[in-house]
Amino acid sequence: MLKISNTLSGKVEEFRPLIGNQVRMYTCGPTVYDYAHIGNFRTFVFQDVLKRYLRFKGREVRHVMNITDVDDKTIRNSGASNPAQLRQYTDRFTDAFFEDCGQLRIQRPDVVAHATDHIAEMVALIQTLRAKGYTYEKEGSIYFRIAQFKDYGKLSKLDAEGIMAGARVDVDEYGKQDARDFVLWKATKNGEPHWETALGPGRPGWHIECSAMSMKYLGETFDLHSGAVDLVFPHHENEIAQSEAATEKPFVRYWMHGEHLIVEGEKMSKSKGNFYTLRDLAEKGIDPLEVRYALQSVPYKRPLNFTFDLLHQAGKSLGRLQDFKLRLTTEKLKPGSSEKAREASAAAHQDFERAMDDDLNTAQALAAVFDWVRDLNTELSEGRLCEDDRQRALQTLERFNQVLELWRSDETELDEKIRSLIEQRTQARKSRNFALADQIRDQIHELGYVIEDTKEGIRWKKR
Ligand code: AMP
Ligand code: ZN
Repeated sequence: MLKISNTLSGKVEEFRPLIGNQVRMYTCGPTVYDYAHIGNFRTFVFQDVLKRYLRFKGREVRHVMNITDVDDKTIRNSGASNPAQLRQYTDRFTDAFFEDCGQLRIQRPDVVAHATDHIAEMVALIQTLRAKGYTYEKEGSIYFRIAQFKDYGKLSKLDAEGIMAGARVDVDEYGKQDARDFVLWKATKNGEPHWETALGPGRPGWHIECSAMSMKYLGETFDLHSGAVDLVFPHHENEIAQSEAATEKPFVRYWMHGEHLIVEGEKMSKSKGNFYTLRDLAEKGIDPLEVRYALQSVPYKRPLNFTFDLLHQAGKSLGRLQDFKLRLTTEKLKPGSSEKAREASAAAHQDFERAMDDDLNTAQALAAVFDWVRDLNTELSEGRLCEDDRQRALQTLERFNQVLELWRSDETELDEKIRSLIEQRTQARKSRNFALADQIRDQIHELGYVIEDTKEGIRWKKR
């Protein structure tokens, strides 16, 4: 049974979806004013692992993610003066974001919702809040009156003083009655992109999009919502206030918040300038899969310190898995199965699942994978591994890979290629065509491997 830390209850709880086997899950997506950095991707990888693990456990998951394509930063960076220009600018970074996700093997959400495609839904939600007396208007902007919502602070556990201290003092919001209040709809400033709506000309505030779009696609009460810890307050606290004030129903049942990627003691962020994008790292020759591995190597509830050594270690771990998999696919094995290998596989499955059930303890899950790899390598070296064990081990690897993405797909092709070349070479030698056999050996050499003929058969290793 999967247990997760729920920020709302402050406890580790068993996860049970509201409706049968269906999990309705929302995640706050990127603000597309620039390339995302790998700190952002730590959170997106954590959410990807969560979704994959729910599916691994047989759940049906519907995942919705927003794209924040209108806010102060997108408007500032684009210099746009109307929605079409703004969209032209943000589309570039939305595309770049999904390219990076592809490189990191982050699966695409079932629904990707752009804020600017949902202005009507946001306006309707603000109208509902207005009709219920939760809003007030100053100089064309509309604010949410926090004093009216008695549960305010239940997610972040902040008291009024903490909320004051944390509230963003926004120059746009000089009309607020209470420093804690937040803006739902911003009046048009000269020359900024805006929409003509029943609320007057303007643009949505920072928080309303997530309430409007999550409820549109997942219903008024849904199962899971997540982001990194910086979103607990005020963003998620405000989402709860807007949604629950409007529907008078619980908004989200489980809130999950991941810890940050840290650089020398500080959160990786654009504003501090201490960040790397995936593209920066690619230029340094770092494989995106190493980045993914590094990001998921520490459980999401623990801060993770970014270093190049972390990436180096990730590369080494992936290399060990790659070697194991190649060895497993290419070695000649006798028929049957070995007791020890069977036990090792069963234990690996159990340990992996126990670790992931424990609030997604990915470090422990990876440890289970590597213990098993070590045991099977021993069985291979001692010549005890059999044909059935190979099949079972490949399935086990595939199962772990469904959750954690542990090797490049081209590696599977490489394995296949080398395996088939070794076979061709054996055939060539059998028919005493030594010239062809040598030619094939050279081909294998070019792929980065050397083979040796031993009494027990053919052995290969990395050059
Ligand atoms: P943004 O594009 O700023 O809206 O952020 C996208 C996601 O990245 C949000 O869930 C943030 O909470 C998260 N995030 C921002 N900085 C970091 C960091 N250093 N480590 C982990 N997650 C982060
Ligand atoms: Zn959000």
